[in-house]
Amino acid sequence: MILEYFDYIRKESSVLDLMPVSVIIIEPKNFTIIYLNDEAKKTINDIKHVFDFDIDVNNLIGFSIDFFHKNPSFQRSILKKYENLPHCAIVNIGGQTLDLKISAITDPSGHYITSMLTLENITDEVAAKKKLHHMANYDSLTDLPNRGLFLEKLSEISDQEVKKCSVIIIDLDGFSIINDTYGHQEGDNIIKEFSNRLKSIEAEDGQSILFSRFGGDEFLCLFSENSVDDVSILSNKIISLFSKPFDVVNQKVSLNASVGVALMPDHGTSSDILVGNADLALLEAKKTGKGRVCFCSDDLMNQAWERVKISKKLRAALIEKQELSLVFQPIVDLKSNRVVARETLVRWNNPLRGWVSPAEFVPIAEQSDLIELLDSFVLEQACRAASLWQDQAHVSVNISARHFGRNTLIPLVESVLEKTCFPPERLEIEITETAELNILDRVLSDLYSLRGIGVHISLDDFGTGHSSLSQIKNFPFSKIKIDSSFVRNAIDQPECAAVIGAVATLGRRLGVRVVAEGVETEVHHALVKAEGCSEGQGYFYGKPVGNREI
Ligand code: C2E
Ligand code: MG
Ligand code: MG
Repeated sequence: MILEYFDYIRKESSVLDLMPVSVIIIEPKNFTIIYLNDEAKKTINDIKHVFDFDIDVNNLIGFSIDFFHKNPSFQRSILKKYENLPHCAIVNIGGQTLDLKISAITDPSGHYITSMLTLENITDEVAAKKKLHHMANYDSLTDLPNRGLFLEKLSEISDQEVKKCSVIIIDLDGFSIINDTYGHQEGDNIIKEFSNRLKSIEAEDGQSILFSRFGGDEFLCLFSENSVDDVSILSNKIISLFSKPFDVVNQKVSLNASVGVALMPDHGTSSDILVGNADLALLEAKKTGKGRVCFCSDDLMNQAWERVKISKKLRAALIEKQELSLVFQPIVDLKSNRVVARETLVRWNNPLRGWVSPAEFVPIAEQSDLIELLDSFVLEQACRAASLWQDQAHVSVNISARHFGRNTLIPLVESVLEKTCFPPERLEIEITETAELNILDRVLSDLYSLRGIGVHISLDDFGTGHSSLSQIKNFPFSKIKIDSSFVRNAIDQPECAAVIGAVATLGRRLGVRVVAEGVETEVHHALVKAEGCSEGQGYFYGKPVGNREI
């Protein structure tokens, strides 16, 4: 009866022979093969090495299909009943992966006759998929889980009823200096070595640890625990990985890392908020001295919230061009007592907060593209205002060091000079001395481009950063502005007066002008003049005033 129907099937569908998938038809009572097409012979031939008996693919009719399955009785139970079909399974035999589909063959009136197996060897496909999955989820340099996988695992915990874990951010201190000094290859070697050290940390019984590389020198750890004690123990283990120096070009280099921690649920339950709050704690750790661990706190979260509010209000003020205004403070030549330049200082009067100091909002603007909006506003207004000055004094404009190296500063300066028809030689750009100035090629390249346009550059707040005196000669500065703290303390502390004198001498030798900032009294004025400064700025010569008062 079955064979009758099978002949019928074969007659009706000779396409089976030609099908590009392996087809096997079995006898339903004793599960032996009654038909297999050429593709099935090929598939079985490909995998015959995995069976512990010889298979002749041309002689398989009458063979039991039990050998395909590690659990033949389960397979038989499925094939027996029409209701179980179709049945799909991925079968792994001897390192090979087969995609198995079993469907029912029925007669024209719908009665179940037997089952047909289609088989596909998907071993290579599965391996390729695995590789792709690995590439998409793991960092290629360190083989640690990447940002995407980390956030996926964190979200899984967020979705659970019991929300318990901690996020630990680890950031190598001063890593950009290593990269710039020794090159990126050496930087990569350190990252790899550090990852291997991280991998050596093992979780205690009942705990789990997942380390991930987010990019650059930033690593994250997802830890199953959320008690300050447990997290402190793990954080200290991470910090202690730095007790051994790193090998860099045959030298031993000591490094350190700062660590920021956010606990779930205390510091947030969603992955975005937890990672953001761990980042806040990291910034605090870096501020309070490197190589430290800092936990997120209500205070830190409130301050961050306040910064978000300020940043929103500042953006609105910049877009609507309201609330912000400029004042100008004279810079005086100490020989002639003439005003040779005026420094532009931005003022923000917010209806709800009153006057907000630039010392508060400029650092907030620096954390986003707001700094570009702010600098663009100030630069254009300053050039327009200075175009009206009778005395042709220079106008100096503060540009944040963070704005350098973003490829936006030079086009901005060029377009403002063109729009306002302002002569570049009357424009001075002030850049504050920071540690990055020493090392960033991008910053240097912008400085040289500005000089190329004819704009002057002043090094602001000199003495507060870390620029090395020997490197200053490589920078295209026209002026060095000594920070006001030296002038303020010069009367009581002779060493401050000595620094002013030394910088003035350095300036003369390098052919750059030296400005003393924060000159408030006649005594300050006499002192900075005697020490050899070329220019002075401070309340003694004039407070910052609006353009109409100039
Ligand atoms: P800065 O560039 O060093 O500016 C000098 C600061 O010292 C100004 O404070 C000025 O008002 C103040 N000052 C001037 N003379 C004296 C004095 O004799 N005694 C004392 N005690 N202070 C004096 P301000 O306006 O609060 O600005 C603070 C800082 O904010 C500036 O320091 C500058 O770094 C930044 N800033 C100001 N305006 C802008 C701007 O338009 N863009 C950018 N990017 N930064 C700005
Ligand atoms: Mg300045
Ligand atoms: Mg200054």
